[in-house]
Parts: sequence; C-alpha cells; structure tokens
Amino acid sequence: MKTPSSFPRSNTPPSGRRPAKPEGWNAQRPPSAGATAQRSSQDTRGASRGHRAPKFKNGGRPGPRRTFSDSGSSNLLKNVEASVGPVLRFIPLGGCGEVGRSMYVYEYEDDIVIVDMGLQFPDEDMPGIDYLIPNIEYLKPRKKNIRGIIITHGHYDHIGAIPHLLDGLGNPQIYTTALTRGMILKRQDDFKQSPKPKIEIINSESHVKMGNFDIEFFHVNHNIPDCVGIVLKTPGGTAVHTGDFKFDHTPVNEKPADFARLTQLGNQGVTVLVSESTDAEIPGHQISEMEVQKSLEVIFNVAQGRIIAATFASLLTRVQQLIWLSESHGRKVLIEGYSMKQNVAVAQELGYLKIKSGTIIDSKDIDNYKDAELTIICTGAQGEDRAVLMRIANNEHKSISLKSTDSVVFSSSVIPGNESTVQRLKDILYKKAGKIFHYSSMDIHAGGHAKRDELKQMIELTKPKYLIPIHGNYFMLKLHADLGQEAGIPKENTMVVEDGEIVQITSHEIKKIDKIPMDHVMVDGLGVGDVKEVVLRDRQHLAEDGIFVIIAIVDSQTGRVRTSPDIISRGFIYLKESQDLLKEVRNRTRKIVEEMTVNGERPINWTYIKDAMREKIGQYLFTKTQRRPMVLPVVIEV
Ligand SMILES: [Zn+2]
Ligand SMILES: [Zn+2]
Repeated sequence: MKTPSSFPRSNTPPSGRRPAKPEGWNAQRPPSAGATAQRSSQDTRGASRGHRAPKFKNGGRPGPRRTFSDSGSSNLLKNVEASVGPVLRFIPLGGCGEVGRSMYVYEYEDDIVIVDMGLQFPDEDMPGIDYLIPNIEYLKPRKKNIRGIIITHGHYDHIGAIPHLLDGLGNPQIYTTALTRGMILKRQDDFKQSPKPKIEIINSESHVKMGNFDIEFFHVNHNIPDCVGIVLKTPGGTAVHTGDFKFDHTPVNEKPADFARLTQLGNQGVTVLVSESTDAEIPGHQISEMEVQKSLEVIFNVAQGRIIAATFASLLTRVQQLIWLSESHGRKVLIEGYSMKQNVAVAQELGYLKIKSGTIIDSKDIDNYKDAELTIICTGAQGEDRAVLMRIANNEHKSISLKSTDSVVFSSSVIPGNESTVQRLKDILYKKAGKIFHYSSMDIHAGGHAKRDELKQMIELTKPKYLIPIHGNYFMLKLHADLGQEAGIPKENTMVVEDGEIVQITSHEIKKIDKIPMDHVMVDGLGVGDVKEVVLRDRQHLAEDGIFVIIAIVDSQTGRVRTSPDIISRGFIYLKESQDLLKEVRNRTRKIVEEMTVNGERPINWTYIKDAMREKIGQYLFTKTQRRPMVLPVVIEV
C-alpha cells in the first residue's frame, strides 16, 4: 500500500487541456507546498499466531484503533485552508479498491455532502460475515457539517449501509429519486431499531442547495430505473459524479442518458469528473437493452413449455422485459424469490414497472395453466444455494420442479468468484431441463456498467480538468485513469484514489494530503463492528485446521493429574482412527502438568501451565500431522 510520502506531489501547474476554463478554487492564491504536512500510515500488523491472516484488501490492517479527530489531522487540514483558501476535498470511505461499499464524501469549507452509503458482500476469507459497511470515523466528529446525503440509485452496494450508519451520522436529510426512496424504506422495514430516514424526493430536474454546494442532477442509464448522476457546484468549481451508469440509446422503459446536459456541463466547465470504473477493463460499448429484448423474444417464440428466467433480484429492467414478452405471448408470470418479490412490489406501486392486471399469478395457482402459458422469473442465476433456481433444480422447491420441456434462461452475468457454483447448477439443469439459454451464447443480458467506449465518451462530453475513477478494484481504477490519459487528460490530472485517502482539489492541482485509517466494519447478524480481525482469524483457523480441546483434572494439593485427560476434537482428525496419537497426547499432558506442579512452586501458576500445554501439545500435533488445530487447554483444579 502507498504511504503518504509516496504520493505524487507535483507543484507544477498542470497543463490543462482547456486553459480558457474559468479558474476555480481560489486561483489567485499561490499553492503552498509547505502546508501539506505528512504523516506516516500505521501499518502495525496484529501479532501473528503462525497462521495466515485474512487477506484484507486495502486499508483493513489490524492495528490500534484511532479516530481521525484526535490524531492532529484536523489541525493539518486547517493549515491547508489557511494557506490556499477554501478547497474542495474528496474522500472515498468505500468503493475505491472494491466494487461495493460505495460511500464518497465531498467537503468544501465547513460543508459536507455524502454520496451513497452501500454495503459490500464479504470475500471467501471472511467466514460468517454477512457484509462489510463503510467506516465513518472521519465523519463522526464532523456530524454538524453534514448538509445531506445523496443516493444515486437503489442497488445494495449504494443503499445497503443506510440502516447501520444513519444514527451515527445524526440522521441527516437524504435526497434521492422516488424508486430509490421506495427501496430504502422497504429495506428499513427489516431494521426497526434504526431511525426512520428523512428522505426528500428529487428528479433529474431538481436543484438543491446544501451549504456552499449547489446540487443538480442528470439522468443516466443503468440496469435499475431512476438512476441519477450528480453535479456539485461550489463557489470555486464543479464536480460531476456519474454514479453507476451506461449509455443506452434505445433503453427499455426509460429515456436515454441525458447527453445534451452532459455536453452543456462540459461547455460550462467541469473541474473534476468522478466516474465509475466497473467495466474499465472491457473494450467496446454495452449492447442496448433493446437488443437484449429482441434476443429474449427469440426464446419466447420457440419455447414450447415453461420459461424459467433467472436474474438478479434488483435487475428490474430485465424483469420488465420478461413481463412484457410474457404478456404478448399469452403467458402468466410467477415471481419467485423474497427480495425479487419485494423489489417488484415497490417498483409496481410507484409505477416503474408496467404490468397488466392479471399477469402476475400466485404459486398456488400454477396448476391452472398449461406449461406454454407460464413464465417463472426468479432469483438464483449465480447458483446460490438457497436461491430459487437452485431449489427448483434440486427438487427442493415447494411447488415447482424441473420438466424436460422447460426452457431455462440465465439473464444475468456471472459475478467473478461464482463461476464454479454456476457450473454446478448448469450440470443439474442440463440433466433435467429441456433447453438452457446462457448470456455467453446469446445477447440475453447487458451489464449495467459503462464499458471503455462509454467511459471515454463520458470524459469527452464533460471535458473535465481532473479525473478520479471510483467504483472498482484498484486495477479497474488504474485502467480508467490510463483511459483518461488516452482521452487527453494530462497524467498528473488523473488520480487513482484508495479508500480513506483525502484528495485536495484546487484550480492548480489535485493531490493527496492525508490518509484516514480504514479498519473494516463488519456486520455479522445483529452485531455491527463487534467482529474484529482477531475474531475472523479465529474463524479461519477453525475452518482450516479444526479445534483440539484437552481437559486435565489436577489435584491442587499433590499437583497430580487425576484420571486420564479428556480430549475433544472437531475438524482435525478422526479420533476413532487416531488412538495412538491420543494416548501419546494424554501421556504428554500428564508429564507437562506434573513437571510444573508436583515439585514446583506454590501457589501453582495455572496460566503458565495452560500456556505450556497449548505450546507443547500444539507442537507435538504439528510434528505428527503437519496440521495446526486451535489447541484449547482446560485445567480443572480439585
Ligand atoms: Zn448499481
Ligand atoms: Zn454499484
């Protein structure tokens, strides 16, 4: 990981492509290099216990906790302001280093505007963790400065952390579109204890004042309706935040992205473009949703039996396409999957899904219809164990089992990491169903994110002085920054920023001035942030090597071990077949204990004895098995 001392600190005025642009952010004041004091990042790893520590991505280093407010950095920031005047700061609290956990902070003088508050699903090396949420330590001492939260769209990687974080931020006003509001409130039903969000509905025409920020919006395409990008105007300059987007000239059920508005913004002058990077590696342009619909129609034209279409629960655009095709082909529609049902209900209630009455049927009524009159839209295209498609395939669904006449449609991409589970699911489906249609062989899915041509077009339309890529793993951000250079932005004006890094933007330069410590905040059941790295390491240790418990009963008078020590083990070895090993462990345990107790000092130091048991038995088990189970010594004094 970069330390602040390696940050680019060029003081040469960038040779912007548009010298005639209005100079913003106090151009008259000379930039001061001296004021940017530096601090080394803390990189103390937790004491290793000889086991692989979880692979935390950037920032999640085990180490001493520290709040940003008491670290002296507030003074640092004040010094910066004194020397260069008011500056815009951009601080990603999540989303720069991963796709997920999106949360971005814009700060101008004493005004803070937050964009998105999402969650991230955990990596495989975080057993038992439901998801990760952004770390808001930076914002807690600055609560009074928060002027509002803007949510760009209703995906969980943008709204999922709201119930967990609102309280800690003092429940500030949220601004978002009607559908996104509906989805936030629906999710809030599951979190009765968190404060009710205050949400003001905006649309792409709205104009909101938040302290020194003048906020405007623009319409973009994605794969859920009602998405907006944001224009943040300050007295010094303008930031354009794209949110998740793609450009679709023939979208379904909505307008194309607002190219005219983006062109106009470019002509007025954009200081910094903050743009998403999910597909920065993929050349070309997303296919249009209209093409997707045409391909899906081919399937509807030939299918003889039921159509079972699996997609993401939040991919409402696809759900609408499948419903329209079903209506025009005389099919009734069954929606299966809790989250998909919820999303459809919200979208239908607000008028974002157009469904004729009588089209949607209940699962108990499917026997009233012929197979050729049925479409089942469900979750589980990623092969998730408990999702609907897997239950159908495994004959575990209460009312639906596969038939040889079924056509199964995978209308979503495979999320990286899920390839093997999807293959397992396809194995089952190919055995039991009639025809399988997959997006890799047919254009029945379009991603929601701009590919390289679209990312470049966004840069060309908005003509920014600076580019900050967001919403991606490090490599995606880097590729996007390189693309910015291809599009004509000087190298020093493109900046790859990682979670927690504070970027200062003036008309003269863009640079990193500090880094906030970014411990992971994990949600596990009802607990938020109470599972720390050490707990995770224990879970991993248990998962990899199991547990070995030795119980010794010791006479506190004589120091002798009474009876043979008990051994309990899980996930380590099969005890019944390891009698010799267990016998030797019992002998050694007796020896280790009695060496220290029978003629040793009084009172007996039990902690010392337990440590010795853990150490020596652990060592013995390793030499015999090359495994390191978690050894738990229990000593009972009688
Ligand atoms: Zn999204
Ligand atoms: Zn997203």
